[in-house]
Amino acid sequence: SHSWDELVAAIKWDRDGLVPAIVQDASSRLVLMMAYMNEESLRRSLESGDTWFWSRSRQEFWHKGGTSGNTQRITSLYYDCDGDTLLVGVEANGPACHTGRISCFYNEVNEVDNKPTFESSDNQASSAASTDRFAILAELEQMIAERDVERPEGAYTTYLFEKGIDKILKKVGEETAETIIAAKNGDNDELRYEVSDLIYHLLVLLQERKLPLDDVLAELDRRHERPRKD
Ligand code: AMP
Ligand code: ZN
Ligand code: ZN
Ligand code: ZN
Repeated sequence: SHSWDELVAAIKWDRDGLVPAIVQDASSRLVLMMAYMNEESLRRSLESGDTWFWSRSRQEFWHKGGTSGNTQRITSLYYDCDGDTLLVGVEANGPACHTGRISCFYNEVNEVDNKPTFESSDNQASSAASTDRFAILAELEQMIAERDVERPEGAYTTYLFEKGIDKILKKVGEETAETIIAAKNGDNDELRYEVSDLIYHLLVLLQERKLPLDDVLAELDRRHERPRKD
């Protein structure tokens, strides 16, 4: 409920009249890219519903996806506490990065080593730690989404997407049967292995059907009568 003038006044444009805009996938919440907007590109974004930026290198307006076709449909817009950053929620019609990757943030710096531990009794730290235990699911989901877009040759996930839904469903069925057999055998090494196979193939199925893992987690939360905090 902002008028255009209120919105423009609330934003702290820098000396070049620009504000950084973080673009986030509305369903997976993956951070896709960051680019700059000026007043006119923000106006074009809101009027068209597609992301428009100002290219500092080319000194021109930039309709994201204008040449690649990888446009971004805007579903939400926020500015932060001090008005110096925009957060744009989008439904992306393809990879955000010009390298073909879904997200521009694929350069992980491995030197970062201050991950939360379970020893802390601090509420936020322990909830961060329990999120961390399941971080592999989010990483796996992202890797599978990247395989779907990039289809690198020789990758098993590529093979599954090329074969299609029937092959994926067949694998889910097989891994379910193998899970049952492992449990019946009372062999927990085998069970751990088969459940891992099953979870991986379920994540491939979710990607094939374009159902975000987050929707499944939200469903589990609803059943537990504990709404997810967003
Ligand atoms: P596009 O906007 O996807 O049609 O791409 C047009 C041009 O914009 C590309 O050739 C790149 O130079 C640039 N570009 C596209 N996506 C990005 C990005 N996420 N970050 C920086 N530059 C980009
Ligand atoms: Zn703040
Ligand atoms: Zn800020
Ligand atoms: Zn990029």
